[in-house]
Amino acid sequence: MPKIAFIGLGNMGRPMAANLMKAGHEVAGYDVIPEALAAHQEDGGHAADSARSAADGADVVISMLPAGLHVRGLYIGPDGLIPALQGAKPTPLLIDCSTIDFETAREVAAAAAAAGIEMLDAPVSGGTVGAAAGTLTFMVGGSAEGFTRGRPVLERMGRNTVHAGPAGAGQAAKMCNNLILGVSMMAVCEAFVLADRLGLDRQKLFEISATSSGQCWSLTTYCPVPGPVPASPANRDYAPGFTTALMLKDLQLSQQSAESNAAPTPLAAHATRLYKAMADAGLAANDFSVAFRWLSGVTRESLVPGGT
Ligand code: NAD
Repeated sequence: MPKIAFIGLGNMGRPMAANLMKAGHEVAGYDVIPEALAAHQEDGGHAADSARSAADGADVVISMLPAGLHVRGLYIGPDGLIPALQGAKPTPLLIDCSTIDFETAREVAAAAAAAGIEMLDAPVSGGTVGAAAGTLTFMVGGSAEGFTRGRPVLERMGRNTVHAGPAGAGQAAKMCNNLILGVSMMAVCEAFVLADRLGLDRQKLFEISATSSGQCWSLTTYCPVPGPVPASPANRDYAPGFTTALMLKDLQLSQQSAESNAAPTPLAAHATRLYKAMADAGLAANDFSVAFRWLSGVTRESLVPGGT
């Protein structure tokens, strides 16, 4: 059974590491927050005192960190894992599951390749519920050999593991998917706000659109108004779920890449501004579908310049 090092034991990393241990893997964990390390120990893991000591003797190193700067620091910063692991025999497979910018993912993967180390970017979809249940979807960038090597480990934590293409392709897939999600959720919320103003019953709109051309995941699985989909966050006062802060982060990553690659994404650009306004209004920690409640409470003039 491959030995795993797991770096970043937060909301996602802790349950992912726990699922690896349930499957029989030995997991040496590391997190900069002592409470996160203690929780990993409670789950049956080994608590390492640094990322390097966690990676020592590991067959696979998995990271689940907040953002690109943390990933760059872990792998290629001073004391980074890639220079430390260069020449190890055998070298471990590196898998970064964080959601980060495309450019950093490519840069770190290139440094790994130059050091003769296989690396995958493997961001996830499915949130904390999927992490706990072991039903995540992994979107994987890297070589075919790396994918074959990493797949059995990823399958202990997820239900779907898709090889999206070469290094960075996992991050590209994640940001494109979440661009669709961020825009489609906003559209569904707008439709329900308009329906309310027109006196159209929410349940009726749901029933009609769920079987019409407006059908989409944001409507039928994650409906942003209370009632039609009992399991959606709207029924628990918009407790997350997937927070506004994370949706804003993912849309901002998409806009960074759209800008550097001259991709026209005007709807996503506007959606990014709307989620930013929601976060500024104190809704960062709510589920992102709280857009419905937020839109219901703001004026048209404040969001539609010129009122057209
Ligand atoms: P989190 O903040 O709960 O966990 C991140 C952990 O990394 C923290 O415990 C932090 O202390 C630790 N950390 C930071 N720098 C470190 C370092 N240098 N060494 C070791 N540990 C370090 O975040 P999360 O919700 O677990 O999300 C992790 C990643 O997964 C993010 O990139 C996020 O965008 C992505 N993601 C999250 C969700 C979700 O629903 N939470 C869903 C999909 C993807």
